[in-house]
Amino acid sequence: MNVLVVGGAGYIGSHCVRQLIAAGHQPVVLDNLVFGHRGALPTGVPLYEADLGNEDAVAMILRKEHIDLVMHFAAYAYVGESVTDPLKYYFNNCVATYHLLRTMVRVGVKKFVFSSTCATFGVPDRLPIVEDMPQHPINPYGQTKLDMEHALRNIAHATGLSFAAFRYFNAAGAAEDGSIGEDHDPETHLIPLAFYAVQGRIKELTVFGTDYPTPDGTCLRDYVHVDDLSRAHIAVFDKLEKPGSGFFYNLGTGRPTSVREIIDAVEKVTGKKVPVRYGDRRAGDPPSLYADSTKAQTELGWKVKFPTIDGIVETAWRWHKANPGGYGR
Ligand code: UDP
Repeated sequence: MNVLVVGGAGYIGSHCVRQLIAAGHQPVVLDNLVFGHRGALPTGVPLYEADLGNEDAVAMILRKEHIDLVMHFAAYAYVGESVTDPLKYYFNNCVATYHLLRTMVRVGVKKFVFSSTCATFGVPDRLPIVEDMPQHPINPYGQTKLDMEHALRNIAHATGLSFAAFRYFNAAGAAEDGSIGEDHDPETHLIPLAFYAVQGRIKELTVFGTDYPTPDGTCLRDYVHVDDLSRAHIAVFDKLEKPGSGFFYNLGTGRPTSVREIIDAVEKVTGKKVPVRYGDRRAGDPPSLYADSTKAQTELGWKVKFPTIDGIVETAWRWHKANPGGYGR
């Protein structure tokens, strides 16, 4: 298939581009390079530098490249910023996405894969999180993604668009060959920051809260390898053959890992101590989030290649070790 990867120069998008090529598909990338990196793309992959909300530009690309399916990774995803600047999130994550979808409907591209998030669940009543549990996001970021899930249902019903929405748990790790990896500016994620602390790029890692009701007092999250996430996006293609259908999948390993255990894994792989400061809880952090991904396993045959945190952290270290300045700016 010819696949337009919106946000394909970003962290998850760029890993998906490589997985698409490995599976014999033809990716085309749309990215405004505000957060994406040209260096994250393999040579030969067409890159269109434009905004996804630019309907004329997107329509031209969809037609010219004979696009069969659109994957949409381009979103703002800083929870704290979404609280202080919700309009930025509603405009980018919702309004721009409506433009993209309207363009697809106009041009007649009828398959869509959407990046959603476990943040749509807010603080869950039960664990692990199953797809049909109530969704009550506790921040605007999660709300924008939930709004899009609802919009997609309606749009699919009315237009025959078929879609899959994947609720990612904590995307982590890097390409096995070390060619691409995680490089956000600003970086706020635990695993890269732990490496930055080891490498002296930051003075220390702050652990956000040690008094959670968890075995070691730090938050539990479900870290899932970025290539495993990417493979689910391709495994769902067959499902999208049926017009007007919509699918929702939680993607995680099902294994909760604490902040403390991440630090241990980083120390093990680097052979160095992570300089740590114990700080207060971060606003908006639920104590514990992990997935039940039985649905993706059963319906898509999805099986993670990286079931352990050590395996995931090892791939991340390969990238950070070889690229201490990220992609360079
Ligand atoms: N975390 C931390 N220190 C940091 C960044 C994150 O203790 O500098 C914790 C955070 O409170 C959460 C976990 O690490 O429990 C994962 O956070 P991250 O920002 O990586 O992903 P999120 O869960 O917010 O999507």
